[in-house]
Amino acid sequence: MADKMKTLIETRYKQVINLEQKPAGLKKLPEEEDEPPSSKNDNRSKFFHNIPDYIWNDWKWQFRNRITTIDQLTDFIPLSNEEQAQLKLVIMRYPLSITPYYLSLIDPDDVNDPIRKQAIPSFLEIAMDSQGMEDPLTERKASVVPGLVHRYPDRALVVLTDICPMLCRHCTRKREWHHGRWVRTDEEIEAMLEYLCQNSNIRDVIISGGDPLTLTTRRLESIISRIRAISHIEIIRIGTRFPVVLPQRIDEELCDMLSKYGPIWLNTHFNHPREITPQSAKACDRLLRSGIPVNNQAVLLRGINDSIKTQLKLCHELLRIKVRPYYLFQCDEVQGTEHLRTPVDTGIKIIEGMRGHTSGLAVPTFIVDISHGGGKVPLESNYVLSQNENELILKNFEGDIYHYRNPKYSEDSQIEEIVSAVNSTGDIIRNRDLSFRTQGAEDADRVSLRS
Ligand code: SF4
Repeated sequence: MADKMKTLIETRYKQVINLEQKPAGLKKLPEEEDEPPSSKNDNRSKFFHNIPDYIWNDWKWQFRNRITTIDQLTDFIPLSNEEQAQLKLVIMRYPLSITPYYLSLIDPDDVNDPIRKQAIPSFLEIAMDSQGMEDPLTERKASVVPGLVHRYPDRALVVLTDICPMLCRHCTRKREWHHGRWVRTDEEIEAMLEYLCQNSNIRDVIISGGDPLTLTTRRLESIISRIRAISHIEIIRIGTRFPVVLPQRIDEELCDMLSKYGPIWLNTHFNHPREITPQSAKACDRLLRSGIPVNNQAVLLRGINDSIKTQLKLCHELLRIKVRPYYLFQCDEVQGTEHLRTPVDTGIKIIEGMRGHTSGLAVPTFIVDISHGGGKVPLESNYVLSQNENELILKNFEGDIYHYRNPKYSEDSQIEEIVSAVNSTGDIIRNRDLSFRTQGAEDADRVSLRS
């Protein structure tokens, strides 16, 4: 049996390597790609027909009843014996956790379902595990006390737990999954608070995880209220995927608590338009009504949202629920995620295909978080073809080329000279026909004003 499994893995591994030897890059231009097929979003009645609303809407029930084994998963998603054997191997290294709510969004009959690919493990996670790094952002190295990362001068990241309701297959902190489930102890929290108190240059604290909303509201309040009491901390940000994977968590109790400690901003993580449901929209609306702005940080994922069409739909849907599309991240160089990564050029082309074709509010910034702790870099197509001190040659969103006069930076004394010239030629100004000016007339006036 062991030999049979070994042969199976070797065969699979070779198939994976062969797949990878195909040229990298987009097979088709993003414009040509179809949005991933949508599914009926009503699997709750199919999967959980005996669960009444009051239980379904209880976030603690959802949390307790996460799907964490392949045997449980097969009750909902058809998997061959071979797939089950493979996935059992995968979750020994990269565990499985899906909330009943998120599971209900999956089309069980579509192996390419974009929701499924974010939640259900793939054998490629271990078959391509030699690529990538465990901690590409070197967060451990940047930890000044356990759980507190201080990389940028005025910001600090507080990691309260490694527990998440769903384990996203593309997670940057996948390394934590096999270090056990932990929540920071009281002593660790005190050490973090002490560091924040002592460093008056920190004005922005990001509370993240894992997912910090896995803590009870009372426990969260005990920490957030202490951070808010530090006078130099201006804003608190919370990074959470609960609005997407378990929106029931965003209840009145939580929102009432958060509303006491503003300004608090919340960054969430919708990756696909099908994740925007009446429940997730309601969760975001509750936060907004409590005075908490909600931004979205999506991750660009192969076969999930790597087309202009899907990104446009996602961003339009986000704006409809009043969530700002903030960042689109290149998927980090994390072990176990290589099969979901896209060439960087894919992201640049997607943003290029969105810019100008929809409002700027709907276009996120495409970000690469440089490995080895280099920090975030925004990437975009180059619209400046050339420039000198007199003009720029610019390309617009349709590819047309324009000259743009480059204004000179005038010294204050020059401005004063011009104002004085204007004042002494009041008649010229009073007699100007302002209703219509030709370019020639404007130039003539400029000459006369300067002379
Ligand atoms: S919610 Fe965030 S931290 Fe948790 S598994 Fe998903 S991507 Fe990782």
